[in-house]
Order: sequence, then C-alpha cells, then structure tokens
Amino acid sequence: MQLSVATILRESAARHPDRTAVVDGDLRIGYRELWSDALRFAGRLRAHGIRPGDRVALLLPNTADFPRAYYGALAAGAVVVPVHALLVADEVAYVLRHSGCRAVVTAGALREVAEAAAERTGTQVLDVVCEGDPLERAEPAAPGDTAVILYTSGTTGRPKGALLTHANLVLNATVCAQDLFALTPGDVILGCLPLFHSFGQSCAMNAALRAGAALVLCPRFTGRGALDLMAAEGVTVFMGVPTMYHALTEEAGASGGRPAALRLAVSGGAALPTALLERFEAAFGTPVLEGYGLTETSPAATFNQLSTGRRPGTVGHPIWGVEAAVADAGTEDRTVLLPPGSTGEVVVRGHNVFAGYLDDPEATAAAVVDGWFRTGDIGVQDADGFLSIVDRKKDLIIRGGFNVYPREVEETLARHPAVAQVSVLGLPDAEKGEEICAAVVLRPGARTTPEDIVGWARERLGRHKYPRVVRMVDALPLGPSGKVLKRALRETCA
Ligand code: ATP
Repeated sequence: MQLSVATILRESAARHPDRTAVVDGDLRIGYRELWSDALRFAGRLRAHGIRPGDRVALLLPNTADFPRAYYGALAAGAVVVPVHALLVADEVAYVLRHSGCRAVVTAGALREVAEAAAERTGTQVLDVVCEGDPLERAEPAAPGDTAVILYTSGTTGRPKGALLTHANLVLNATVCAQDLFALTPGDVILGCLPLFHSFGQSCAMNAALRAGAALVLCPRFTGRGALDLMAAEGVTVFMGVPTMYHALTEEAGASGGRPAALRLAVSGGAALPTALLERFEAAFGTPVLEGYGLTETSPAATFNQLSTGRRPGTVGHPIWGVEAAVADAGTEDRTVLLPPGSTGEVVVRGHNVFAGYLDDPEATAAAVVDGWFRTGDIGVQDADGFLSIVDRKKDLIIRGGFNVYPREVEETLARHPAVAQVSVLGLPDAEKGEEICAAVVLRPGARTTPEDIVGWARERLGRHKYPRVVRMVDALPLGPSGKVLKRALRETCA
C-alpha cells in the first residue's frame, strides 16, 4: 500500500464501498461513489492539461465538492493548494501567483472571487464536475512528496505556504483516527470546521475517511444548527474550536436535550477555557479532548488522550511518533531545551513537522532550528509530561516592564458569572508602554459594569496583571476557523 493522501480514500472505498463517506445536506455519498467522483475529477483535470506535480488551488465551500476535488486533484498527482474562503481577489491572486497554480477549482458564491483573481494571474478556472472519463488509477506518490500547500494567515507579513508531505498528512490522519479518537466505521463525525484549514482537513476530513466513518459537513456553523444535525444524523464525535463550544453550551442551556449518540468532543485551534470545558461536559455528559497544533505540524502535535489520560486545562501529551519540549524562547539561533516545569517556547519534532515554506528558505531556517520546529507559542510541561500553552509569544503584553500573558487573565475573567466570552490584549499606553484591556461579551440577560469587572479581576490577579480597561462588546470578531481576531479587536478597543 502507498503512503499517499489519495490512498486514504481509495483504501476505505475498497474496504467499505457501501458505507456513507460524506453527508452534505440531503446528499449522502458512499465511499465507492466518492472515489469514483474523485477519479472522474482527476480525469477532467488531466483533460485540462494538469500533469503530476502541477499545483491546483481549491477555493471551495464546505460541501461535498471539497473532498471530491481534493482527493481528485491528489489522485491526478497534483499538489493541492486550499485557499482561505474569506480572502479578497487580490489576496487569492497572491496565493495563485506565489504557488504558481495551473488552475483554480471553485463553486457557488466563491466563483466570483476566484474568477477575479484568476483573471489577474491568467489561471484557468474549473468547476467540480465529476463527469467524463475517469483516470484509470491514482498517480503514485512518494511519502516525502508535497501533497498540500497550506498558506498561513499572514498575521506577521505576507502569508507563507507551508509544504505538507503525503507522510505528514497520512500519519496525522491515522494517529487522529486510531490513537486519539478511536474512530470506527460506525462513527459519524460532525465537521463544522472549514476544510481549507488544517484542523478541519486533517483531524476531521482525512481522519474520518481514514477510519471509514461518515463525515457530516456543515457549511455554516450555528449552535442550533449543529445541535439539530447531531440529533438528525446520530453524530458520535464533534470537532470544533472553543467559540463553537461556547455556542453549543449556550444553546443546550436554552433548549435542553443532549445528542444521544455523542461519545466524544474534540477541541483545538485555540485555548479552551477550563470553565467552558466544565460547562460543556456538564451539559453534554461527553468528555472533551483538547489538542494543540499548527498548520506547520499537520496540525495535531499534542493531545489529551483517552489512553494516556487527560488533564483539563492542558493540551495533553505529544501524539504517537512526535516529541514536544520547551526551549529557551530568547535563544533563536539554537534550540536549548529546558527542564520540566520551565516556561519557554514550545518546540516539536517528528513525522508531523512540515517540509518548509515554499520558496522561503529564510523563514524555514528560522522555523526549524536544530531539528526542532519553533512554534512561537509559550508553554510549560509538568512532571507528568502534560503540556500547557501559556500564550503566543507575539500576544505577550508588557505592562510597565512586567510580562503578562493574556490567557491567564482571560481564564480568570471567564469565571465571572456575568461573562460569556472574553479576550484580553494590550493597548498602547504612554506611561506603561502597554495597558491591559479586556473585551467582554456578557451572558444573555446578565447585567454588570466595567468597574465591577475591573474590581472582580483586581481581587484575583496581581497588580501588574488585572485589566484597567474593560470594553463591553456584542460579539468578538472571529476568523473563519472560529478564532478571535485580536488585530481587529485591538482597533475596536483602542
Ligand atoms: P494565526 O493563528 O497565526 O492567525 P492560523 O490560525 O491560520 O493563523 P494555525 O496554524 O491554525 O494558524 O494556528 C496555530 C496556533 O493556534 C498555535 O500556534 C497556537 O497559538 C494556537 N493553538 C492551537 N491549539 C491551541 C490550544 N489547544 N491552546 C492554545 N492555543 C492553541
């Protein structure tokens, strides 16, 4: 058998041809059918001049078209470049040009942006049409070949294209499916996460199909919609980012009734406040496994695991075949590991670490130092090896010379009875350099004042740490993967 991403679907189609692979609204696609669609799409790509090694962009919504085009392009031997669905035409054009894509595959409402971008770069635009002659068999691929190029969000400068190999992605999907979530063909996975992002792509889509399970797609997440889908489809595993857990918990509190078949919930992408984890587990009676990773680590790097035990508030242990450690954050040209209990930069080594950034040897050299991938996150490992993420290096607030990690302040404020969601950031301050600001969303019907929240925090946090500025907001600005956009929030709070 080959270690290639297309093989994930091919093998499951051979083993479970009649089981459901993907549920998209009223559409139910079996494994045999999905693989046959993929081979037809591969044939279509070939007819449009796409050769093995060519790059093909996908600008697609979370519908069955995504897996059809993804596995189809991989079967054709192409390198897939999933494009963030919220980018504007100029940004898409940058990705198309930078990656040298020969075609952009699109559908529905995204077509307009795809066409505008493609016009600028002279790229051909293709629909997901799975008709015509199929490719006879998938192109072979070597484990170290690039399968997917995932662009980072570009919070620091231009987006960078992370090169993910077949081995990176197949092993991540396999570890997720087998070790972490113990998926079986009987599982039904709700993947509301965008499939162009690494979490949804690896942990939900590739892992579900690796296990022969059913993947239920949901183009737009709402708490109510997700709860209804869970009940209607008999969902056994939910995967989401913390903001989704918040919405689900609020909705379950309002309407009662927990999805009967749900056996496991998986959180990642951002810190899950312990208070929220507890509320979710109380409302749903389902354990939450929190994991940690980045696009560059395919993405799963560490996880709370059923086999090695879980510790809420931590992101667990390194996944199978991967090492995670804490290094001196100040030493950037060498990786100097620190003993357990020390706070420093989280570093990762193993089969999940990407092959580098496309055409950017400098950024690659800065990211992989002495064989360890430098995550840019600050963390601490306890004596039992559980890793906790303190915060991102770049989100650190320095107030009057003291380091303050927003995450700790957020965890504290999340325990205030009137607070539903909170995000903490630094605002420029003439005297202190930076001042700590908390943006707070109140629980429905709750009443309180900024002064009350400041006072509450002052009782629970050191003088250098409690927020002096509290802004009440209706909602936190979220990116498409459900993470709080601190940059946008900073403008609102300033
Ligand atoms: P960016 O986050 O830079 O805007 P992105 O969201 O597209 O871009 P990802 O690679 O998805 O990039 O994000 C990885 C980051 O998410 C990690 O570096 C870490 O800061 C954060 N993260 C992921 N999981 C967790 C977790 N369980 N706890 C805390 N932080 C997490």
